[in-house]
Amino acid sequence: MTLGRTHLQQFSLPAAGSGAGLHAAAEPEPTSADLHVHSQWSWDALQGSMDRTCARAVELGLRAVAFTEHADFTPVAAGAQLDVAGYMECLTRCRVRFPGLAIWSGVELGEPHRFAVEATAVLRQGTFDLVLGSLHCVESEGQLVDCSELGSDRGLDPGSVMRSYFQEVLGLLAAPVEFQVLAHLEYPKRYWPAGYPNYRSEDYRAEIEAVLEAAARRGVALELNTTRGMDEARGLCPAPEVVRWWRQAGGRAVAIGSDAHQPETLGAGLAVAQEVARAAGFGATSVLNVSGPSSALAELLTPG
Ligand SMILES: [Zn+2]
Ligand SMILES: [Zn+2]
Repeated sequence: MTLGRTHLQQFSLPAAGSGAGLHAAAEPEPTSADLHVHSQWSWDALQGSMDRTCARAVELGLRAVAFTEHADFTPVAAGAQLDVAGYMECLTRCRVRFPGLAIWSGVELGEPHRFAVEATAVLRQGTFDLVLGSLHCVESEGQLVDCSELGSDRGLDPGSVMRSYFQEVLGLLAAPVEFQVLAHLEYPKRYWPAGYPNYRSEDYRAEIEAVLEAAARRGVALELNTTRGMDEARGLCPAPEVVRWWRQAGGRAVAIGSDAHQPETLGAGLAVAQEVARAAGFGATSVLNVSGPSSALAELLTPG
């Protein structure tokens, strides 16, 4: 299956008091939406709370928040499964409790190209407004290794992990599973070990451009993930220059999210990411956002 207009027409915000819809904003609002957020329904969000995250969103003045819970199938997740029914019930309760906030359902599919059957089964269990395609693990010596282990003592070479990662992202972009957003490109750089020359996107430009071209062909949005406001060199995934290359590769849309795993980090770094998007030419009509009903998103994400 490929992403198409039919699926995108399912985007809607049934509980939004404002009647707002998923939309490419006419006037970008730096903190209007956080489109990558986890709650207690994600296996690794031990401090997560959907209820308190919604309360925090209202405090921050966000108009929308997408709870993109993990659905992972690698050994790293140790068999944890997303309880889609419980999650959807919780979401419904929050939509009632916070009628002025647009609360989108979502899921972050980990390695859906390797686990297409499992990922598709998750999608069938719920109604998801936003699906992120995500890659956390690469193959090393025949095993899937989480990139967060880069700084551990496993002796992983960061350069070769990075090249394996970009190769694997090409596989992700060929996955026979629907998703709308390519999540946190350059993810391993979050964990780049001290003692190595700093990570530079330029050193991997050919690999990155191949990924961006494949993403543009598939018609997904590129996520600007702020890693909960972590320092930009590590935390902004991908780096600003990659966002510019995305534009040059024909990329039409970006999505901005904090990847918060607890209420306290909701929205962290969104303003910076918004500025990066604007500087790369994604200012006026191509940032996934909310400011009123529109069919513009379908146009943006129709495979070119
Ligand atoms: Zn992730
Ligand atoms: Zn995430």
